Amino acid sequence: MHTQEIGKNLYQVDLETGGFKNLICSYILRGSRIIIVESGPTSSVPRLVDGLKELNFRLEDVEYVAVTHVHLDHGGGAGTLLKALPNAKVIVHPRGMPHLIDPQRLWESAQSVLGFVSEIFGEPEPVPEERIIPVTDGSFDLDDDAKLKVIETVGHASHSLSFQESFNNGVFPGDAAGTYFPELDVVIPTTPPPFHLDSELASLDKLISLNPSFLYYSHFGKASNAVQRLRDYKLQLQLWAQITDQGVRDNKSLEEIRNGILAEDAAMRRLGGYLKSHKIYSKTALGNTVQGFIEYAKQNQAKAAL
Ligand SMILES: [Zn+2]
Repeated sequence: MHTQEIGKNLYQVDLETGGFKNLICSYILRGSRIIIVESGPTSSVPRLVDGLKELNFRLEDVEYVAVTHVHLDHGGGAGTLLKALPNAKVIVHPRGMPHLIDPQRLWESAQSVLGFVSEIFGEPEPVPEERIIPVTDGSFDLDDDAKLKVIETVGHASHSLSFQESFNNGVFPGDAAGTYFPELDVVIPTTPPPFHLDSELASLDKLISLNPSFLYYSHFGKASNAVQRLRDYKLQLQLWAQITDQGVRDNKSLEEIRNGILAEDAAMRRLGGYLKSHKIYSKTALGNTVQGFIEYAKQNQAKAAL
């Protein structure tokens, strides 16, 4: 079974994108209405639809698909998914909306940043404009008492949202809280370019102020001790920023900076071997994520030199 009940009225679907388990998941909230959080990528939409059927949910009862951002692995499948959900609308940040309506530029930039990984995720299909609800705050009813609250959490992307559900007091941070490896209980940064550290740290403070009990990572799964995890993630980002900032000043290559991080960050020391051997994480977590820090450091240093 690739679906799992993980809380009150809350289900997780392992999308098994490209055949990889524990890589990307979607979540389903079941109140008097059904809300899906994260469409996931185009290629695994059939898995998500199977998951809904497995849980005996009617496709026509899904009211919203809330996406934390439009990157292919989170909102890329929205257009394809909506074809299967006749009454659903997509909840997205207004800055993400144009990319859902016309995904061509998003697809091209994903191909150049992600390379072969973008092919595993699949090309996004357009979402009809009238089926999109652009939001940066507010909330959506789950039933008479419960709500899904929208929080703008830019940094990972300039259009990142998080959502907080009141059935269990958990937060869906998208990629704003990093990538979680449940087997080892370890988190690592998820910061491809254009990454903005200052905004990301402010967004983490916003999430901490909500005092959530759980985090539901899109990569991957549910974790408790949410507030402590968010605080730890801030420290980890600051450590990476320090290492990268010095590395850029010393004209080090991406590989040298990455090796510095692998040596100095305890989470990376534990996970490094696994990441290097993983077809997708060797490209994203060890490549794009470090590149995001490097570009941010370069911009910062250029600004400081003015
Ligand atoms: Zn992601």
